Amino acid sequence: MAVCEVCNNDYEMAFEVRTADATHIFDSLECAAQRIAPTCGNCQCRILGHGLQADGQFFCCAHCARQRGHTELVDHA
Ligand SMILES: [Zn+2]
Ligand SMILES: [Zn+2]
Repeated sequence: MAVCEVCNNDYEMAFEVRTADATHIFDSLECAAQRIAPTCGNCQCRILGHGLQADGQFFCCAHCARQRGHTELVDHA
């Protein structure tokens, strides 16, 4: 049994997610996303795909990156 570190749900199907510096325990992907996924620097949505990065900021898509002046970024097809 493991307890989700986001919502404290004690769930037998909880899973671990290992990041570069820590191991997290979650009961659902939604909780995992809430804790780990970066948010877009422009529209604040959760980035669940690869996203884009510029100057330490994450963006969900090239459109958002361009809105913030990062005209060099394009979507990875
Ligand atoms: Zn949870
Ligand atoms: Zn965005």
